Amino acid sequence: MKSAEIIAIGSELLGASRVDTNSLWLTEKLGDIGVEVQLKTVVGDDKARLEEAVADAVKRADVIITTGGLGPTEDDITRTCTANAVGRELAYHDELEANLRERFRAWGREMPEINKRQAYVIAGADILDNPHGSAVGMLLEIGEKRVINLPGPPRENQPMFTNYVLPRLRELVGDVFVVRREMKIVGMGESAVDEIAAPIYTAFEGVQTSILFNKTEVELQIAVRRDSKAEAEAIADDLTAKLSAAFGIAMFTTSGETMEAVVGRLLSERGETVAFAESCTGGLVSRRITEVPGSSEYFLEGLVAYSYPAKVRMLGVRQETLNEFGAVSAECAKEMAEGAVRVSGATHAVSITGIAGPGGGTEDKPVGTVYFAYAGPMGTRAIKLFLPGDRYLIRWRSSQAALDLLRRSLLRRGQ
Ligand code: AMP
Ligand code: MG
Repeated sequence: MKSAEIIAIGSELLGASRVDTNSLWLTEKLGDIGVEVQLKTVVGDDKARLEEAVADAVKRADVIITTGGLGPTEDDITRTCTANAVGRELAYHDELEANLRERFRAWGREMPEINKRQAYVIAGADILDNPHGSAVGMLLEIGEKRVINLPGPPRENQPMFTNYVLPRLRELVGDVFVVRREMKIVGMGESAVDEIAAPIYTAFEGVQTSILFNKTEVELQIAVRRDSKAEAEAIADDLTAKLSAAFGIAMFTTSGETMEAVVGRLLSERGETVAFAESCTGGLVSRRITEVPGSSEYFLEGLVAYSYPAKVRMLGVRQETLNEFGAVSAECAKEMAEGAVRVSGATHAVSITGIAGPGGGTEDKPVGTVYFAYAGPMGTRAIKLFLPGDRYLIRWRSSQAALDLLRRSLLRRGQ
């Protein structure tokens, strides 16, 4: 497989004021044709460093792409440094100067003399037309290697890459098709996921796997590379099916959906509705479910009952329950969920009540103790979880656990 390096050029990219997004976009596009970006570098407008960076990249990678530094000013050093790094001269192109003069004339202006710099191109490089700006790009073939200079602005370099660079790289790498799948697993850590997944995916050749932990879920991403699209898809399907069988209900999506989208889909498939009774999450679960377009089809209401009186008044939780067990208890969670079904008329309800901290923990109910209850056609049941993290994470993880409790209840019912 061909390897690539990207060099983002510009002192502004080293600080916080501008972020290098070009390399992110390019990495994805290169990945799609089976060219793997292995390293990226951000270099300020410094001649020596840039020359070194390009020369090193040319030693290591098959495809080297720089972005930025092709403007007309003193700090635009990409063409000179790239030429030096690969041991070529710069060649002046009269027709580029004529084009530049024409561009300026069309804006009703005279071309400043410094713009003549943009008529220099690395000797032997192909010129990549730029309909959106004054800087042309360059593509240089050095044996099997390709060195490509693109302008900095995304609106200029993206069409240039898509129209001119991509077809040339496809010629170089041949037909490579990459099919990606994104699976997500809830209720397990990264290493536990890898313990189950590794024996399965390592049996497949030419499959790249990454496992990422993301607050409350583990993402398992696979990229299958083959020279035929149908074959790549068949292998991706096979691997996905095997992983899905191994994780069972803990895997909530094989297509990158969010938890709230999965829950929404399950409700909408069943033509059923839900309400939430939230205490420590303060409406977060309702916010998440309503982030999915079309959620009005199945989400009836979210009740944020934070205080004792609110739990009594809005959800009909009994004062005796609160006195005897406290708000953070299985008994209270169940009455909240049952109350939410009664008040809203929804098919299902889920409640959340817990201690998000940092204060309020006790010895038998430390910070992170959260009770959840489901009420609906599956009866009423409560679960207790101990969720680690700070206030933000405890609340976020609680929202995930609440949605997951609903998802599992819906799936069990469907069996
Ligand atoms: P330059 O060609 O270096 O003069 O860059 C022109 C403009 O392109 C910059 O001011 C940025 O707005 C944008 N730009 C340059 N490099 C990048 C990059 N790596 N990612 C995103 N935008 C960039
Ligand atoms: Mg610059």
